[in-house]
Formats: sequence, structure tokens, C-alpha cells
Amino acid sequence: MGIKVSKFGGSSLADAAQFQKVKQILLSDGDRRIVVPSAPGKRSAADTKVTDLLYECNRLAGQGKDITPAFEKIRERYHGIAQELGLSVDLDAHLDEVKKNICLGAGADYAASRGEYLNGILLADYLGWDFIDAKDGIFFDEEGHLDSDKTNSVLGALLRGHEYAVVPGFYGCDSHGNVKTFSRGGSDISGAIVARAIDADVYENWTDVSGCLMADPRIVRNPVPIRYVTYRELRELSYMGASVLHEDAIFPVRIAGIPTNIRNTNKPEEPGTIIGYEAEDHESKYMITGIAGHKDFAIIAVEKAMMNAELGFGRRVLQALEEEGVSFEHMPSGIDTMSVVVHESAIEGKKERLIQRIHELCSPDSVEIHSGLALIATVGRGMVRSKGTSARLFNALMKAGINVRLIDQGSSELNIIVGVDNLDFENAVRAIYRAFVINETENRW
Ligand code: ASP
Repeated sequence: MGIKVSKFGGSSLADAAQFQKVKQILLSDGDRRIVVPSAPGKRSAADTKVTDLLYECNRLAGQGKDITPAFEKIRERYHGIAQELGLSVDLDAHLDEVKKNICLGAGADYAASRGEYLNGILLADYLGWDFIDAKDGIFFDEEGHLDSDKTNSVLGALLRGHEYAVVPGFYGCDSHGNVKTFSRGGSDISGAIVARAIDADVYENWTDVSGCLMADPRIVRNPVPIRYVTYRELRELSYMGASVLHEDAIFPVRIAGIPTNIRNTNKPEEPGTIIGYEAEDHESKYMITGIAGHKDFAIIAVEKAMMNAELGFGRRVLQALEEEGVSFEHMPSGIDTMSVVVHESAIEGKKERLIQRIHELCSPDSVEIHSGLALIATVGRGMVRSKGTSARLFNALMKAGINVRLIDQGSSELNIIVGVDNLDFENAVRAIYRAFVINETENRW
């Protein structure tokens, strides 16, 4: 028998009807033995997440205000679920303790973590599974980083002692024994950590979309879903803004060689997206895997004749950035030019100083900052072996009348990044999608 760790996001557990779907999914596959819940999320666009209500209670408590009105909203949410599902757990005893501790100043991490904790207690009761407090198995070190070794061994042993268990997401235990949360959306990370600790066959991440799409649906109409993507490809796509998973949720499962399967709680019949380690067995009918991009980058263009022969030139340019606390994104460079791509927000209010400092350190012929750049990454493991990818890409942009201001192909040949004017961004994404996905389908059928 295999083991699947199934993490359910906030919208998947927002009310009793969603809990019922989750139970059905879990019971339909005996390998689904460990479940990692988020806190109840939004039931509609206007709703508030329980985590946000808890942060609010903590804020009010910090100001010495009465948290009762805010806390009652939380009580209502959990009671609504428990009553509809006919649960017998003594919810008020748990809620009263949480309220008391928040008022006593237990802190933001404790308060926020209770969303997952209480949902875990409800879910365990509903399923008849064991409840494992994440505080007993997920550990942070003195610097606040995840202590992977300790977590793996303690959590692994803990999990092995239970056949079916619920482990709440989003938090663990700091080096002083207090509750500590991950950053927002961190239940994804908990799920990955649990999957690694129990050496799961697959980490299922259940959410409200059927996996990753080949392009942003706000730009391209009905983009094709991605069936299989490698962890490396996903890293490139998420860096460029395609967000499905918390970034830090990739590492634990990636190093353990465990695939992640993104699934839709509301459409469990759909296979979703598999994020895997190996690419060989997963031929796609498209040359590319996905397109993602971002607006608002800037290029710092430094020019100097004979730059290529000057020792330490690049280091000094980067030193100027480092002194100003600016981290750079890409560095496509020529013989006598060096371009450093940065987020526009990273150099806000620092442009003059940066230019001056680069002049002082490097004595270049010119330094210019060009703003309003959008970067688009066309990502695909299939590009490594195919000829003509860039021809097709640039042809598409040319036909759409788009001027390419920057080109950067990673040495892995996993992606081609182009920089275009912010104003051309959406059209460029559509043109690339058309060339690689729509026309590909037309050619074949
Ligand atoms: N409930 C937490 C949040 O809203 C963590 C999570 O849902 O993953 O950020």
C-alpha cells in the first residue's frame, strides 16, 4: 500500500459542504492516509478568511481592546461547520482557550496558527482519524528557519505511529517551544514537509483550480491545463508570477523525489497537474510547457569600450547595487555593455545614487536606466531538443508588431526570456501562446 499526503487549502475547507467533499475524496482512495488542512478560507469573494480574523483579534488584544465581537465571528464559522456535520467535539472548550491565550498576549503566530489547529480538530473528528499537533513534529531553529533534520526524524516517527492522521498546516514549534507559523499560504509547506517525513509516494495539493495552466487566464482565454511539469520548470514559471504553490513548498518534496499533484476539490474527476522530477516519460504534445511574465522591471545599461578586457568591471557594477541593497534578477550582457535587470520597485528613490556610484566605481562611458519593461518567460523542457524554438518565438512577436528590448536564454535551455514594453505585455503573451499552443494544435489536427 502506498501513502498519499493530501493537503487541502482554505477554500476546500471553508464550510460543511466543502468538508463533505474532502471526506469523499479521502475515503475514495485508501492510500490517502495523512491529511494536512488549512484554516477555513473565503466562502465568497466578500468573505473573510479565519486566519485574517485571528490576526485581527491579536491586533485588538495588543491594543488592550475587547476582542469578543471579532472572536465571535470565528466561533460562528467553526460552529457552523461542526453543527452541520453533527460533530461531537467540545468546540467551545477549544475556542475559549484560544480566546484566553490571545488576550493574554500569546502573539500573532499563536493566534494565526489556531485557524489550522481548530480546523484540524474538526476534520479529525469528522473523519474519525487521529489528530497530530504540528507543534510536536515541525521544528524551527534559533534563526527561525525550518530544522529539517529534527523535523524529519521526529515527525517521521510520529506519523509512522498512526495509520490515518490529520496534521494541521501552517505552523510548527520554535526553538523556545512556542508556536511559530510559516509565511502566509504556508500550509503548502507543511504538506510538503509531512510528505517528505513519511516518504509519501505523492504529495496531493487540493485547491480550487484544476492545476497549472499554460498561460495566465486573465490574458489568454481558456488556456490549456499543464498535465506534467518538472520542478525546475515550475520554478521558472513561478518566479515569473505563475503562482499555484507557495515557493517554499517545492524544496522538501523536490529533494525527496516526491511528485506533487495539484488537484481541484470541486472537480476531483480532473487529473490536475503533476509536478515531477524526471521529464523523460512525460512527452507533451507542445514544445513548451508554459508562459509566464511580469511587468515593471527596469534595465540598468552600462556601456564602456573594451569592457570585456577590464578585470573586475562586472563585480564593481554589482557592488554598487549591493551597497544600495538592490538585488538583481538577470544580467544579459554584451562585449562592451552590461545590462542588469532589476525590479522597478527595488530601485525606487535610488536611481540617482546608483548611477553616480556606478560612475565612481567603474568610470563607464554611459549608464542609463530604462524603465517600463515587462519580462516574459517561455518555459519548456521540450525546447532543449527542438530546433527553431526561438525562430518561432521571435517570428510570433514580429508578426504581432512587438519590439523585443531584451533577450535572455538560460544556459539550461529551459527558458527564453524576452523583455518588451509594459504596454506590449499582454499582446506578447497572446502571440507566444498562439504560436506554440493554438497553432500547434491546428497543425496537428
Ligand atoms: N491559513 C494560512 C493563510 O491564510 C495558511 C494557509 O492557508 O496556507 O495564509
